[in-house]
Amino acid sequence: MVEGSSKRKRPNILVTGTPGTGKTTMSTALAESIQFRHINVGDLVKDKNLHDGWDDELDCFILNEDLVCDELEDVMEEGGNIVDHHGCDFFPERWFDCVVVLQTDNTVLYDRLSNRGYNETKLSNNVECEIFQVILEEAKESYPEDRVVALKSDTIEDMSRNITTLTDWVRNWHSAS
Ligand code: ADP
Ligand code: MN
Repeated sequence: MVEGSSKRKRPNILVTGTPGTGKTTMSTALAESIQFRHINVGDLVKDKNLHDGWDDELDCFILNEDLVCDELEDVMEEGGNIVDHHGCDFFPERWFDCVVVLQTDNTVLYDRLSNRGYNETKLSNNVECEIFQVILEEAKESYPEDRVVALKSDTIEDMSRNITTLTDWVRNWHSAS
């Protein structure tokens, strides 16, 4: 039994993966389908100032992990959350009943990220991150393997199938007791 999960009436899902793999698109649709709360960690960090300033080199906010975890603790205890973030190693393991790692073919990912206007460095860093399955490895190191699932996210059909799979999983989930 996962410590803490017995108190939740609904599970918490972490949706992670390299930027551009479709976390926000899928999380938004899934949250609407199952009436869960969608928490986009990047937006939360910006809105609530949960950072230590801007990293010019990486071109992103320097996320403050303690502030983010403090901010989310109560809501995570309630359950019914879809947390959307490109990293997964700093959240408490007990928060999540399922950790979804989205994966995208690297040429498809390259196009998505260049459409987003990423510069060459950011582009190659992220495509490399995807090629080496960095986030999947991080997830497997941070959570029990039976809670981690890698899902392909190349096409809209992939996304629909993933939403169906996760919707079914949530319907069949019962808190451990
Ligand atoms: P992330 O939140 O992981 O950075 P987004 O959800 O913002 O990724 O998606 C990045 C881009 O890819 C968006 O333009 C989105 O419409 C597109 N996209 C996301 N998932 C898919 C998919 N499964 N098939 C086709 N396009 C997708
Ligand atoms: Mn996103």
